[in-house]
Amino acid sequence: MEQRPGPQINAQSEAYWQSVTQHAMVLQRCERCSTFRFYPTPVCPKCWFTGFSWEQVSGEGELYSFTIVHKPVNDAFAGNAPYVIALVTLAEGPTMMMNLEDVDLEALQIGMPLKLGYLDFEGFTLPVARPV
Ligand SMILES: [Zn+2]
Repeated sequence: MEQRPGPQINAQSEAYWQSVTQHAMVLQRCERCSTFRFYPTPVCPKCWFTGFSWEQVSGEGELYSFTIVHKPVNDAFAGNAPYVIALVTLAEGPTMMMNLEDVDLEALQIGMPLKLGYLDFEGFTLPVARPV
């Protein structure tokens, strides 16, 4: 089995990935219009302001959309199938792609409440969503 691929961390996303490693996700929040954003970017996509702070999110969200993967394209995930890749809209606004874990595939429903969790791997951590 291949090693699971990890994130490509750069100066822009370093604070985000560090917070995920600490199981306390932070996202950029615009200092002018207060909009949270993801992925990390140098400019607010809503008002184009460059000033921002990193703020911890509540961990609450809901299922926006999903797909169930039965045949992974990367051998590193072969033992996980079937698994759920979800778009999760956080209470703070941004929609993020992540795995949805510990869920009955028959119970998946758009809009179902979810909470953030974390999965630690060797050298990195990934956010995941789980049913409330
Ligand atoms: Zn803004």
